This record gives sequence, C-alpha cells and structure tokens, in this order.
Amino acid sequence: MSTTHTLSARDPASRRASEPIALDPGIWRQILLMVRTQHPGLNRLWFDQMAPRQLTNGVIQVTVGTAAQLNFCQSQCQQPFTTSAQAITGRLVVVSFHCEHLPEGGVFNEGDQPLALNPDYVFENFVVGPCNRLPHAASVAVAEQPGKAYNPLFIHGGVGLGKSHLLQAVCQTQLDRNPSARILYLSCDSFINQFINAIESGEMNQFRYRYRHVDVLVIDDIHFLAGKDRTQEEFFHTFNTLYQGHRQIILSADCPPSEIPELEERLVSRFNWGLVARIDKPCYETRMAILQKKAKMRGILLADDVLCYVAAKIESNTRELEGAVTKIQGMAMLQNGVVDLELAKAALGESATPEQKRITIQQILDVVTKYYSVRLSDLQSKRRHKSIAFPRQVCMFLARRHTSYSLEEIGGYFVGWDHTTVLHAVRMVDEHSQAEVQIADQLAHLEAQLVG
Ligand code: ADP
Ligand code: MG
Repeated sequence: MSTTHTLSARDPASRRASEPIALDPGIWRQILLMVRTQHPGLNRLWFDQMAPRQLTNGVIQVTVGTAAQLNFCQSQCQQPFTTSAQAITGRLVVVSFHCEHLPEGGVFNEGDQPLALNPDYVFENFVVGPCNRLPHAASVAVAEQPGKAYNPLFIHGGVGLGKSHLLQAVCQTQLDRNPSARILYLSCDSFINQFINAIESGEMNQFRYRYRHVDVLVIDDIHFLAGKDRTQEEFFHTFNTLYQGHRQIILSADCPPSEIPELEERLVSRFNWGLVARIDKPCYETRMAILQKKAKMRGILLADDVLCYVAAKIESNTRELEGAVTKIQGMAMLQNGVVDLELAKAALGESATPEQKRITIQQILDVVTKYYSVRLSDLQSKRRHKSIAFPRQVCMFLARRHTSYSLEEIGGYFVGWDHTTVLHAVRMVDEHSQAEVQIADQLAHLEAQLVG
C-alpha cells in the first residue's frame, strides 16, 4: 500500500520524486489566487471547478471539465500556473492539465488535434441585442438542427463583432449534443495552406476525403479566398459535396458574399443559397450588457456608473470592450479588488494617451504625400498610374488601421472609390507588407510619423 503525503507550502522534505503526494487544497487555493492576481486577463470563474490531482514526478495534474477548457489551459495557462506553483510550493514542480471527457468524434483541426475552441465562446456568454439578433437566432437554429435549418449559414460583419464567437458556439453546442459528430472548424487561411500542402505533397485524396466527410464544416474569415483561384475551385467542389449530402456549412466574412473581391460568381451565388446574416456594431445598451457579462465571467463586479462610463467611451467593437475589462481588472487587483469610477477612468485614461492618439485622415494624407512626393490632387483623382495608385492604397490602409472610419467613409476621401475597392486596397497593402520588407519599412516609417 502506498502512503500519500500532503504537500504544504514550502515543504522542505526531500521525498522520492516518484512518490505520489496529495495536494493540500489550501496550497491549490494559493496557487489559484496567485495566478488570478498576476494574470487577471486569464482568470475565469470555472477555474474554481478545476480539480488538482496528486503531485507525481514533479507534475501537478489538474483535471478540467471540457475539451475547450483543456485547450484554453494548455495553450495559455501552463506557464502562469507552473510559475505560481513553484513560487508557492518552493519546488520545481510543473502543472499539467487533463480532461476526462474528451469527445470521440469531436472537433478537429489541421493535425487531427482537438480544435482550439475558446471555452468562453458559447451561447450562454453571447449577449443578444438588435445588432446581432438574426445571426444569433440562425446560429442557434443551425446548432440544433445542422443541415436542416439554413444551409449554408453565412455571417458577416466588421472585426471584433462576434463572428468567431457565434461560429464556435455552434460547434460547442453540437459537440455537447452529439459527441460523435464530426465537426471541422478552421480559418480560411488554414484551408488555403492545407490545400497548398496537399498539392505539394501529392495528398489531394486525403485532403478531399477529410473535408468531404464531415457533418459540419465551419470556415472562419472566408473572405481570404479572395483572388485564390485554385483554392476557390477546390472549395467549390467541397461545398457541393457537403451540400448535396445535407451537411451543414457555416461561413463568416468581413463583408457579404457579393462584396468579397475576386470571388468566383458560382461561389458568390452558393454562399447566398442559405441565410446571409449581418452583425452590426453593438448599441449602447448591448455594450452595457456585454460588459456586465464579461466582468461576471472573470469574477469581478462593475458598478452601474462604471458600466455606463465604459460603454459610452468604447463604441467601436466588442473586442475592445473586453480589453477594457481586462485593464480595469488589472488595476483592481492592485487596489484590493475595488472597482469604482475613478479606477475605471484611470485604467482606460492611460491607454487613451500616447498610442491611441486620434489620427485624422488629413494627417495620413499629409505624411503620405510628403513621403512619396505625390500631389494631394493626384491622390484624390482617378489616376491609376502605379506611382500614384500605390501611395493612395497606403493612405487607405493607414486610415483603416489608425482611424475608426468605415470603408465607405474612407472611400469618400478619394474620387471613384467605393468600399469594395477600399477593402481590396487595404488587403493588398497588408499582403505586400508581409511579403516585402521594403514596404513593411515604408509603413513603419509612416506610422512612426503618425503616432510620434
Ligand atoms: P470577430 O470574429 O467578429 O472578429 P470575435 O468573435 O472574435 O469577433 O469577438 C471578439 C470578442 O468580443 C470576443 O471576446 C467575443 O466573445 C466578444 N463578443 C462579441 N460579440 C459579443 C456578444 N454579443 N456578447 C458577448 N461577447 C461578444
Ligand atoms: Mg473572428
């Protein structure tokens, strides 16, 4: 019979490493507290339900409840928990996470690993308001009856408005209801990369089998298919096979199908076969409700005046609301957990200073015309010569990145540019800057002038 010792704080005993030691619940509480204090952004209410198992061979085994939680812990919590555990126990221990109920069929991504679903992205955590009522209702319907309700379901809207949240909520609900369902959730980028890899390694058959034998195929940010002719061709056949087999297809994008630049007409028409639903920016009341929810999930309470202040101050997108909660939470931890209006103002005021200085389109036009030695009247004309077209695209890119103007508004500064062409310009510059160091340098130089 093996004896089990209890590990208490800074236990100096030098036992044989392989001997299992039960973890004192008090120690675990201290470790948790330390993680929560030092990494407020990571904190989740469900941490309370983590079950620390014994300590064996220097490893503290911790059991979590769901596959998504496991993913979250393995990708983000390993280091913080390990560091805290070492500080509290005074030993070189490592924290490792496990889950006892991994789904059999499950959600899989590239390497047939359970997919990185965010445990926060479930329907219970999604606040419904006038801005997202339709896409939310459609997602719920699809999660309940995949392949029957709307096929495909196409959700579009600006960045940070909840598209990925809804897509993942559908996957997680499906998984709960039907653990053996084969669900494939991935970004469009992964789809493109895997397609290219499959061609290069001569494994197209496997690739096809993989995508054409699922119950639910969910592709996030499908607008990245723009201009990728061969991937579009392949996706066309994938789509047809799944659709004919009454398998559910769910897609998201930053614009409706018809506005994705350089997308084959037959795909545009297929994306419109089911339901196309738009997510808009949340209104004030919805922002309040989202803040409340996010704060609650992280175990902090925000007074009404704090909610009003933050909801009024941050209106662009929901991801930034979440960032605000993280900042406030960070400050609150330093001040014994009390969140009042003063603290919220201090937490957010700080970030409003240097880096988020308001940049105007006028300033952007100024630095770009000087840098590339072009005339403003040329930039704003319809001239398409490269020496003018490129600086113009750079202006659009910078305006998109550094101002909160919409694509339409940005297009309005130039003659004959509607929002699709602006979007195209922004993506072009983005792609070039990633591929060409020279262009990345030019952008860095211009941005330094703008924020400096
Ligand atoms: P997108 O994919 O549209 O860029 P995400 O789905 O990544 O946006 O959402 C950004 C953040 O905002 C996520 O943390 C998400 O949980 C949150 N969020 C967006 N909309 C809502 C909502 N209606 N209720 C709760 N959280 C939301
Ligand atoms: Mg997304």
